[in-house]
Amino acid sequence: QALNEYLDLKGNIRVFCRMRPITMGENLGRSRPVAAPDSSKVFLEVAGSNSRSYSFDRVFPPGSSQDEVFMEVEPVIKSALDGYNACLFAYGQTGTGKTFTMEGNSDNPGLVPRTIQALLKRASNSNYKYLFRFSMLEIYLRNLKDLLVPQPVKPTDPMPPNLTIQMDPSGGIDIENLVAIPVSDHNQALQLYRLGCRFRSTASTNSNLNSSRSHCLIRISITCLNAPERRREKNKVWLIDLGGSERVVKTKASGRRLEEGKAINLSLSALGDVIYALQRKKGHIPFRNSKLTQVLKDSLGEDSKTLMLVHVSPKEEDLCETICTLNFAARVR
Ligand code: ADP
Ligand code: MG
Repeated sequence: QALNEYLDLKGNIRVFCRMRPITMGENLGRSRPVAAPDSSKVFLEVAGSNSRSYSFDRVFPPGSSQDEVFMEVEPVIKSALDGYNACLFAYGQTGTGKTFTMEGNSDNPGLVPRTIQALLKRASNSNYKYLFRFSMLEIYLRNLKDLLVPQPVKPTDPMPPNLTIQMDPSGGIDIENLVAIPVSDHNQALQLYRLGCRFRSTASTNSNLNSSRSHCLIRISITCLNAPERRREKNKVWLIDLGGSERVVKTKASGRRLEEGKAINLSLSALGDVIYALQRKKGHIPFRNSKLTQVLKDSLGEDSKTLMLVHVSPKEEDLCETICTLNFAARVR
């Protein structure tokens, strides 16, 4: 009852803002984002001009805990077990805390380990019987890479099969060749997650691929084996650590870094366009414009729950990027 009210009232797409705390040696400066006392807005205070305000479903000021953020995710976990698709995004400039929010660390585990744990725990106490499968992939430039498959190191190592996006006649999306490993308890899933994270960071040292230049996607596929009528049998939960949103044209990037940055910027604006169109119930939703939105085509929209967690820096020198991020948030909300 309370859950349905929550979902009806809030709609399908919720947008949050998390502010990173200042770290040692950093200066706040006079121009910066400040959370409203009631956590519903961010005021952008710019020295010498009027402050602008941006509304959110919830603002997490710098001192917020991983627990507080996860509380907003819990209703989504419930609806995922009821057959809804769900997408959780961490958006923001590099260094604003996306990976901290999603992955966290051993003292402060993030949304991914918490979500995995909560989903499997809740399922084990349910009257329904569920099957979970875990996948993890990276989108780099326009390529998909399976993070659960070892990448070739020597020229003689076998190449992993190509991942391709397939659409079935009913509009469902599948990623051909993507490994999906059945998991029956949360420790198993967490192990796979750690493995995937390792392949991700290994890649960054081997091939000059910085993790902030790619999108990292976790897919938890759920099958309800004794689903009641009218309830969907299969659904998916996506947990996505997006590439850094910083405008690459404004930085002095060139060559490969420029290519990477352009690809990230393009796919982030494609994602913004899709969510914008969905929010306004437009007839045409431009899913085709990026690999990211193609992959998520059947998981965004009518009967799915989307949480967009935008991250902003507290620093004055990041103000331009902060404004871009807040504008992105305002557009998709
Ligand atoms: P991103 O993934 O957006 O590039 P990171 O998650 O790597 O950013 O965060 C950058 C740094 O700031 C890391 O050292 C991280 O531990 C720290 N950090 C980010 N957010 C928080 C937070 N909410 N509380 C404490 N430390 C944080
Ligand atoms: Mg990161």
